[in-house]
Amino acid sequence: MPHNSIRLRFAPSPTGMMHLGNIRAALMNFLFARQKGGTFILRIEDTDPERNFDVGAQQIIADLAWLGLTYDEGPIHGGPYIPYYQSERTHLYEHALEELMAKKAVYRCFCSPEELEKRRARQIALKKPPRYDRACLELPEAQIESFLASKTPYIWRLQLDGNQSVTVQDLAHGETIFELKNFSDFPLTRSDGTFTFIFANFVDDMLMKISHAIRGEDHLTNTACQAALFVAFNAPMPTYWHLPVLCNIEGKKLSKRDFGFSLQDLKREGFLPEAILNYLAIIGGGSFSDEIMSQDELITNLNFDNIHATGRVKYDVEKLRWMNNKWINRISTTELYTRCMPYLVTAYPMTASMDSKIVCDLLERFKAEFITLKDSVDALRFYFERPTITHEDMQQFTRQDDLRTMIANALANYEDSEQFIQSLKQQAKERNIPIKELFGYLRIALMGSTQGPAINELINALGRTESHERLTHIMHL
Ligand code: GLU
Repeated sequence: MPHNSIRLRFAPSPTGMMHLGNIRAALMNFLFARQKGGTFILRIEDTDPERNFDVGAQQIIADLAWLGLTYDEGPIHGGPYIPYYQSERTHLYEHALEELMAKKAVYRCFCSPEELEKRRARQIALKKPPRYDRACLELPEAQIESFLASKTPYIWRLQLDGNQSVTVQDLAHGETIFELKNFSDFPLTRSDGTFTFIFANFVDDMLMKISHAIRGEDHLTNTACQAALFVAFNAPMPTYWHLPVLCNIEGKKLSKRDFGFSLQDLKREGFLPEAILNYLAIIGGGSFSDEIMSQDELITNLNFDNIHATGRVKYDVEKLRWMNNKWINRISTTELYTRCMPYLVTAYPMTASMDSKIVCDLLERFKAEFITLKDSVDALRFYFERPTITHEDMQQFTRQDDLRTMIANALANYEDSEQFIQSLKQQAKERNIPIKELFGYLRIALMGSTQGPAINELINALGRTESHERLTHIMHL
């Protein structure tokens, strides 16, 4: 039974920070929906009362906005299937469970967690696959009544038909068949009466008419159970795409220890949302003539009809840095200014009241080297802080007297930075002073370091008066 329209959802559990795996899932659902003219939905899966916090949901909403992943239906916008918080949808899960009760497709299980664990351990010791042994499947009615009367905690399990298999469509793997004999009669509720992830997630996908579900590979076994539920309700199933797990450069599952795992890290360091999304969209999927793509270009160019099932996708922070540098140089200077300002104002409070044109000019001159927005702070330090240069710093220049005379001559006839440098080069040649030494000396004077941008860029950025003052200052050390 096919779906009438294309509807995808990002369904995060607000249990912690957004990390690259979540963002990749959100992005792929978003891009697929946008490419196919479908609907993109945000659903907050806050069914675990002990682990979910509203602040977590608020953070996810803010992060999606920062990333530019706009959704059509969800917590703030609402939509035809409100509410979009699972914690407010309990009545719908109850209703679905009642339907299964009416069909006699579920049964109560009174086995305690300790008892279940013991049996599980026994099965493992006997090298048997650990599965629920259906001890409660055919309890006599009187026994059930007595358990209920004594308030013995219980859960509801779905009764699977071990002779059946379920078929799931997966964008990367094609048709995947699961034999139900390999699965336990899984729980739909917890002993406190709340609903399990597998059940709530299924009910919502069914009611919200989700046509495609793109999610992490870690949900693959849940998919078999959920497919059994779709069959039990005779409802159309989504097509799935299980995204391969992200690994670090050593091939291990990406974790908190890897830099950039959390979105907050990347944000703080000055990575652009454009670069993060661009990077996550292209890793592990196809080759592109130009890898730098905007959201619109990704929507157009990503090929969802030809997805290869790859075992692992490597997260390479160096590639992300490279992409970030490209993006810093792709956005407009005024945009770059807006994004660098929080870093610059913290480091150099005077920038808050400065003419933005001056800061824009500085950014424009030096942005080619920025890997992250934060790099603007170091790159522009020479402008905002006069270097402190000591007599000892100058001892490395053996021909100081010559250099001083040359600079004094060049300053006396100063026209512009080009002419000034030409004059110095000429004099250096006459005196047999290596250009490297001359430029090192000038950089020390202008920015306090022998390494850095081109001298004429420095002079032009500082302006004539300030550069002359710095050059004159060094001559008296
Ligand atoms: N709440 C689940 C998660 O965050 C959703 C999985 C799904 O997309 O179905 O992993």
